[in-house]
Parts: sequence; structure tokens; C-alpha cells
Amino acid sequence: MEESNNFRDSIATINEDGNRNVIFPKKPKGRFTNYRTYTSWFLLFFLFAAPFIKINGNQFLLFNILDRKFNIFGLPFWPQDFYLLVLSMLVGVVFIILFTVIFGRIFCGWMCPQTIFMEMVFRKVEYLIEGDRTKQIKLDKQKWNAEKIGKKSLKWFIFFVISFAIANAFLAYFIGGDILITHVIDGPLKHSDTLIKLLVFTSVFYFVFAWFREQVCIIACPYGRLQGVLLDNKSIIVAYDHERGESRQKFRKNEDRNTNELGDCIDCKQCVQVCPTGIDIRNGTQLECINCTACIDACDAIMDNVGFDRGLIRYASEDNINKGEKFSFNARIISYTVVLTLLFAFLVTLLFLRNDIQANILRLPGQLYSTQGDSIRNVYTYKLINKTNKSYEDISIRLISHKGNIKVIEGEIFLPKGKFHEGTLFIKIAKKDIHSSKEKLKIGIYSNGALIETDKTNFPAPIQIK
Ligand code: SF4
Ligand code: SF4
Repeated sequence: MEESNNFRDSIATINEDGNRNVIFPKKPKGRFTNYRTYTSWFLLFFLFAAPFIKINGNQFLLFNILDRKFNIFGLPFWPQDFYLLVLSMLVGVVFIILFTVIFGRIFCGWMCPQTIFMEMVFRKVEYLIEGDRTKQIKLDKQKWNAEKIGKKSLKWFIFFVISFAIANAFLAYFIGGDILITHVIDGPLKHSDTLIKLLVFTSVFYFVFAWFREQVCIIACPYGRLQGVLLDNKSIIVAYDHERGESRQKFRKNEDRNTNELGDCIDCKQCVQVCPTGIDIRNGTQLECINCTACIDACDAIMDNVGFDRGLIRYASEDNINKGEKFSFNARIISYTVVLTLLFAFLVTLLFLRNDIQANILRLPGQLYSTQGDSIRNVYTYKLINKTNKSYEDISIRLISHKGNIKVIEGEIFLPKGKFHEGTLFIKIAKKDIHSSKEKLKIGIYSNGALIETDKTNFPAPIQIK
């Protein structure tokens, strides 16, 4: 047992001297690879197009941290809506946990940008230029002759161009697609800061995809490291059916493996050779496995060749393999689903309750009321936020709860789409209409005479007012 667990003492990407062990995975082929390829086309298109898609004039996805502007699915979020963003993230985290409990690391294999770019973009370029695994190993070992210099330079140049393209898309999510296009048209001399950001991002992506590669999943990714606590015996993962596969032995033609008590694994090691993280799935569930399905396709092809049933490596749970149990909803899955549904319902309710116009009227700090004849006057700051795509004109601020007068210092207020307006105003109320030292006021915001938002604030006054 001790010996069979030796693989847990080391990782495939580091050799005994502690140096990097470069992985040269064999090019995967098969139905799962095809499905993943189609999925990656869709996701890549989405990733590059999303910063340039507009809904009601809003960028589909925008995460402008510096200007504190966020759009999710075309809905603009302001810093005042931060609780909604936090809640969306909370729902996202619970969703990922639930999803992982049921389907293991299916996200890593099918949807993670790291896997998609690494396996579906950069690795494919590598196969195209350097050939499959054997040719890559040969090229790596050979001296730096014209062939090696030519192939490596071409590969690294294309890697740089792709990294630059990813950096552009990445930046568009942060500064906005329109701004990026404007900066590109204006040229780098006018926007050297944008060029510097692009080059920094490009360097990071180049480093990750040209050198760091699978180590992101093995060493750096926090989600990968959570697998140990999220997965249980019922989670569906890419798994080797050791009940059927063992004991393994090389294939001999016309041999009766049943009589010799041999399993279906012919120890061809094709599943190991295609693995992008360099592991042997036959050792069981491992942190390094990103559920990329390459070993399923490789093993299925071998099973077809030797005339055995497919599925020696397949999507299955530990209980499915050990006890032949089918998938069922256990208490953990049901409780996660209930929490997720409640959070989601809460989020949708808050989204519907969110006002298009937000008004904040606050007393100017440090200012006392003043008495003006028969009236009391207080000074306030106001901020009006337009979260919509239409502009509001002829805005007036009026008292709803009391008779009195509001004077806006700025005079006319115009609220353009997606912008805010702030300033100072005075509220004056006759003493006879004030009934407490901290009168509660209700104030209305009107555009062209129509009420568009209300806000509440306090109105301090002398205690013995009458
Ligand atoms: S073990 Fe299989 S599914 Fe896991 S990373 Fe390796 S090839 Fe992909
Ligand atoms: S590819 Fe299949 S048959 Fe070959 S070593 Fe892996 S599990 Fe065994």
C-alpha cells in the first residue's frame, strides 16, 4: 500500500533534482476532445466579443475598478450597488461549490479560461509547429540548429501575438471596449499608459502559457486545491475503473484474460502520455487532474483497437466504480441546492427593487441650522445617480412631507445617462410647520414635473420651536 501511494510524494512537473520536468502531452483525439473543441470555440468567441457587445448601450460585461463602474449582462452597477455585486459573487461561489460536489472538476476541463487557452489555443499552435509528442521531445533534446531556432522562434512569436490579443480583450473588460478601440485608433503615442498596461498583461499571459503552463492548475489555482474538501465518493469525476482494469498486463493476441484473471487495462500508458499534467489516472483521484477527458479518449481508442468495451476510464463516481451505485441526490447536494435557490431568489428580488435613479440627500457636516425670521434653514449636500441609459432634464427637488422651500445652489439640474450630479441645497421651513427638534423630511426628485425618486433626511431645529 505504501509503495502504491508513492506517486503522492512528488509531482510530475518537478524531477528528483527539483528542476522543471517539462510535460510533452500526446495530441488527444476522440469524441470528448471534439466536444471540448466546439465548446472552446463558443467560449473563446464569447470571451473576445463580450467587451464589445452592448445591451441598451451598456457594455455586456465591464469591470472598471478605477472608475468604479461595473456592468453585468448589460446591467450597470454603481458603487452604491456594491452589495448586489457581493451577493452575485456569493451566489457564484455557492454555485461552483454545488457544481463541484456533483460534477467534480468539470469546470476545469470544459470552461476554465486557463485550460481553454492552454489546451485549445497555445498547445494547438505548438502541435502545428513542432509536431506531436515524439517530435517535440526530439526537438527539445536536439542542439540549437537552424531547424530548432526556426521552429522555436516562430512558436514564441505566435505565442506573443496571441498573448497580446488576450491582453487587449482583458483590458477591454477593465477600461471598456469603446475606450480601447479609441486608444488603438489614436495610436500608442497618445495613450502610452494603455500600451504599458497591454505590455504588462501580455508578459503575464506569455509567461503563463509559454512557460508556467499546467503549474497554474497544480500549484497556483485555489479552486484546484479545494477539491480535497469538495469532492466525495459520489462526485462524478474522470476516473479509472480499477475493478475492471486490474490487474493490468500487456495485451497478447488470442489470450484469454479472464482465465488468467487479468483486467482490461493493457498497460499501454496512452492515458499517461496524453495527460497535460503528467499524471497516471490509474493511481486514483489526484489534485493535478483537471478533468480534461484526454485520457478517456486515449483509452477508448485503445479499447476499440483491442476489442474491449469503452469506458475503462470514464466519468464516474468512486461509489459507482466500487459498489456499482448510480448517481443520487444526497443530503449535501440537496442542502447546497436549497441555499443556492434562496440566494438566487434574493438576488433577483433585489435587482427588481433596485431604483433607476438614486438620490442621496445628507446634511452638510458641521453645519448648524440657522434662523431666518419665521423660518429655520438647513444646508445639505445631494447626489443624484442616473443608472439608466436615458437622460433626465429639467430636474427639480421639492419637499413632499412639509410645506417649505428648497433652493438648489447650482440652479438647473441635468442628469445625463449613466452619470451622476452632486451639489448643495438649502431647505427652509416655517417654524409653525416644525414639530420636533429632528423633523423627518420626505423629498421628491422630479423630472419635467414627474416624480422619479424620493429620499428621506432629517431637519434639525431648536427644541422649543413655538
Ligand atoms: S488524468 Fe485524464 S482527465 Fe485528468 S488531467 Fe490527465 S488526461 Fe486530463
Ligand atoms: S490507456 Fe487504458 S488500457 Fe492503456 S494504460 Fe491507460 S487505462 Fe490502461
